[in-house]
Amino acid sequence: MKFLRCREIPPPTGKKVAIIGAGPAGLGAAGVLKCHGHDVIVFDMLPEAGGMMFFGIPDDRIQKDRIREAVRELMNAGVKFMFNTKVGRDISLEDIIETFDAVLIATGTWKTRRLDVDGEDLPWILPAAEWIVEVHMARYGHIPWSDVIKPHGTILIVGAGLTAADVATVLLTYPEFKERVEKVILSYRRTRELAPMRLSEFERLEKMGVEVLELTQPIKFYEKDNMRIARLIKMKLVKTPEDKRPKPVPIEGSDFELRVDYVFKAIGEIPTPPFEDKQHNIELNPDNTIKVDEHFRTTRPNVFAAGDVKHGPSLIGPALKSGLDAAIKIHQYLTGILK
Ligand SMILES: Cc1cc2nc3c(=O)[nH]c(=O)nc-3n(C[C@H](O)[C@H](O)[C@H](O)COP(=O)(O)OP(=O)(O)OC[C@H]3O[C@@H](n4cnc5c(N)ncnc54)[C@H](O)[C@@H]3O)c2cc1C
Repeated sequence: MKFLRCREIPPPTGKKVAIIGAGPAGLGAAGVLKCHGHDVIVFDMLPEAGGMMFFGIPDDRIQKDRIREAVRELMNAGVKFMFNTKVGRDISLEDIIETFDAVLIATGTWKTRRLDVDGEDLPWILPAAEWIVEVHMARYGHIPWSDVIKPHGTILIVGAGLTAADVATVLLTYPEFKERVEKVILSYRRTRELAPMRLSEFERLEKMGVEVLELTQPIKFYEKDNMRIARLIKMKLVKTPEDKRPKPVPIEGSDFELRVDYVFKAIGEIPTPPFEDKQHNIELNPDNTIKVDEHFRTTRPNVFAAGDVKHGPSLIGPALKSGLDAAIKIHQYLTGILK
């Protein structure tokens, strides 16, 4: 992994760029901008760089020491980092926009999508992405383990994407959890062939002991006789002219109770810009991504956006590429090529 892509840093241009978010998009952009001689400061709400790539993905799937090495290289080249600084809470976005020549927003997707079913806000229903981040914060010594919820017993995971697979992996392989967990059940409203997770990933999870319930969806969570219950319903797939994938439709009267101890919501994440729609004269799209033109420019002239907060939840590769491309546009803007 490499974010700094030049051997020598050219003389300073005198231009200052603020990057909000130290995930792959922000780090990639920082490397390109530093290699053009600009002064770069990266703000991040967390105590360490890497974003979801570092705090979301389990340790066996990505080499975290390589990420740390690549970040150190940026620091040694003069990129400054302001950690534990949440823009919009600890520092005003307006002040940043007014102080810097250009700003790149790369804050990713840090909120789990809601299921919109009864009982969803009970304390034993947990947002998967936020929980995984807390687990890794504790694992790397940034918060005490006592701050992390330690699920036990039977755990239902709703969803069949990367986050769902990672929650199952963490529960069944990390020593802090594996002794406490009796059973992990994964519920997905379509069939595995239509899931975002690969078939090989389902096989891997099943080998670890995960029970997969295809064509099911939760409709309610509640407590009864001191038990925690998820009511699920069976689904059928219906082809509609407007949808590419068959649409899952509940089968009337097929609902059933599942006794659980904890539930993880893992049906996707929502983009989290550090402002509301139209604040600071920056517009959002209906899905909460930041509206940009073909040059990664937002509706505010010196503010750009890249990564998952610009195009929605994706993968490290597309997020990184978007940061690299946006940085070139910022450089063109700072040097007057992009009007
Ligand atoms: C659980 C999980 C597993 C995944 N597994 C994989 C995988 O195996 N392979 C793969 O390719 N992709 C995977 N992904 C997706 C990948 O991690 C993301 O697509 C990628 O990290 C997005 O990069 P980004 O830079 O746009 O945003 P992020 O990586 O999300 O980084 C955004 C950064 O902004 C910071 N931030 C947010 N708001 C603020 C604020 N207001 N002020 C300051 N800082 C802020 C955050 O702390 C974070 O560091 C996974 C995602 C998740 C959630």
